[in-house]
Amino acid sequence: MDEIKTKIYELTELINKYRKEYYELDNPSISDFEYDSLIHNLEELEKEYPEYAFPNSPTKAVGYTPNTAFEKVVFTEPMLSLGDIFNAEEVKEFVNRIYLMGYHPSFVCELKIDGIASSATYHKGFFTLGSTRGDGTVGENITDNMKTIDNLPKVLNSDIDMEVRGEVYMARSTLDSLNDQRKKDGLDEFKNCRNAAGGSLRQLDSEVTRSRHLQVFNYTLVHPEKYGVKTQVEALNFLKQHGFSINPNFRHCENVDEILAYLEEWKDKRKELDYDTDGVVIKVNEFALYDKIGYTVKAPKWGIAYKFPALEVETKLLDIVYTVGRTGNITPNAVLEPVLISGSVVQRATLNNEDFCIERDVRIGDYVIVRKAGEIIPEVVGVNFDRRTPGLIPFSMIENCPVCHKPLQRKENESLHFCTNPSCDGRKLATLIYFASRPAMDIEGLGEKLLEDLYNLGYVREIIDIYHLNKYRNQLINLEGLGEKSVDTLLDNIEKSKNNSLDKVITSLGIRFVGAKVSKVLAKEFGSLDKLFSASFTDLISIKDIGDVIALSIVQYGKENKLLLEQLKSLGINPIIEKNDEDESKLIFKGKAIVLTGKLETMTREEASSLIEKLGGQATTSVSKNTWLVVAGSDAGSKKDKALKLGIKIINEQEFLEMCK
Ligand code: NAD
Repeated sequence: MDEIKTKIYELTELINKYRKEYYELDNPSISDFEYDSLIHNLEELEKEYPEYAFPNSPTKAVGYTPNTAFEKVVFTEPMLSLGDIFNAEEVKEFVNRIYLMGYHPSFVCELKIDGIASSATYHKGFFTLGSTRGDGTVGENITDNMKTIDNLPKVLNSDIDMEVRGEVYMARSTLDSLNDQRKKDGLDEFKNCRNAAGGSLRQLDSEVTRSRHLQVFNYTLVHPEKYGVKTQVEALNFLKQHGFSINPNFRHCENVDEILAYLEEWKDKRKELDYDTDGVVIKVNEFALYDKIGYTVKAPKWGIAYKFPALEVETKLLDIVYTVGRTGNITPNAVLEPVLISGSVVQRATLNNEDFCIERDVRIGDYVIVRKAGEIIPEVVGVNFDRRTPGLIPFSMIENCPVCHKPLQRKENESLHFCTNPSCDGRKLATLIYFASRPAMDIEGLGEKLLEDLYNLGYVREIIDIYHLNKYRNQLINLEGLGEKSVDTLLDNIEKSKNNSLDKVITSLGIRFVGAKVSKVLAKEFGSLDKLFSASFTDLISIKDIGDVIALSIVQYGKENKLLLEQLKSLGINPIIEKNDEDESKLIFKGKAIVLTGKLETMTREEASSLIEKLGGQATTSVSKNTWLVVAGSDAGSKKDKALKLGIKIINEQEFLEMCK
């Protein structure tokens, strides 16, 4: 327990140091994503051990204590932070939480400008007070500095009293010319627009601020009820009418689908803007609901910041460990200081192979850049040499299998090292894990950890043992983490997997070079395991998409695994696809390449792709002269244009559905 207490203390100290660097010095030493991941770790620990959480924990604080060099400004309404979320699931949860409270509001999506929060107060139409957010309750008086912001009105077009809030930012083009100048003057360059804006706004000499050409987007009207303004959309328009600069890219959304469409649209489009954005702020539109939906100590519950996924993040490489794959392939893996990427905590990433590590000069102790793209396993893409400390030892590949300790082999022309011992426990376990995994037999509940335990206990050593696990029902029930109910569900899932489709069964065999996609081709072509494994090398290479390497691998697998194939059959795992002429006539897209583009209304991309495949076609991603048809949903862009140029037939979603009928 003391360990936990110490961990919480250390993490709190570390986060406070980073907060000071970021908020007060405008000079962070770690990326926002590293920071977010530390906060996330601390939140998790505090949730589990609330007794050790500090009352003034940074997880509950807004901003920083105002600098004494500035006069203090006490807010009548606190300037809060926003909770953050990272993926579509969390967006749905945010909306559902509000629905569950019994409210069905509309929403406003606004780009989240990456700058410095500010407040501007007007008395009888004159700008009288400018402030930073400070700690949310007390800010710093920066009136003179804010007067230098060109697009902040100093006199309004009516003589009203009002307070508006917004984000002071530096345009990218301004940062570029400022940094050019600083380079010439031998000064340190600003790392990004946010730091430059912060450093420029909180200057003691407002002439320095003026020279930095800051700008502002305003988005909050304090006490909107005073002006009869009832919604955020009305507030933005009201601000605009009174001469404020509002970001023009906001959108009124009726439901979660419209919110998700906005996020998708701005994911890439934001890169074309001349200012930095780090997400989208999603707010309930109707102000009457704000107090009802409520607040936490730190943020409102009626609004949230969706952070754009960071596909590349920097973190520390703590160690390199090696895993053995089902074909005996040895992979070096990075053990990382946990870091948040696209909403999930990443602690491991692949380092692929020896050449990969040597080319990038990866060393334990380095700060490495980790990338997660789509569903692909996180990968280390490179090293930040600026942060390398002296004395780190260059990478060298292991020479023996980490599991069975037999010497490894690296074949000519291959970058992988292999353990060639067929009875290596590492290989056997990897084969079992792959067999039960989602793209293969998809046996829910039979994951990596459980299989490792079952392997070590000797209950499952070969694939076939999985189907005899019911013999150990009583022993399984007593295993940690399992109970009667979960064991029965697991046994049920194992039984159900016997009915999997042929392509899944082929995938599950783990034949080298035969993944889910090739398995589909083979299943369609041969229709049964018997026919597949009695096909000759020549039969196999005559199939489109099957080359020498795959064909050889299949023939070899069939020869070496006769017993397993018989055993599977005897268990009833022998799916057969009946082919008949009528089915053939239904394959209206047979051999045709079809491209889907734009947003589909009645189905997802995946559903449309599988419909195309079911009807014999191939759903491809890029338009070329081999494309037979383009299905264009709403907002279809460059692919549609290219299809038009190439004279390829384009139909809309409705026409596509008609065709499929
Ligand atoms: P935040 O930046 O995540 O979100 C709240 C802020 O968003 C608001 O205060 C406002 O200033 C801004 N905002 C921009 N556009 C807006 C709009 N249209 N509507 C409403 N608000 C808008 O929260 P925060 O508390 O200011 O900062 C926390 C974040 O700062 C962290 O998530 C982290 O990414 C970063 N941080 C980084 C470090 C570091 O060392 N790198 C340290 C501390 C904080």
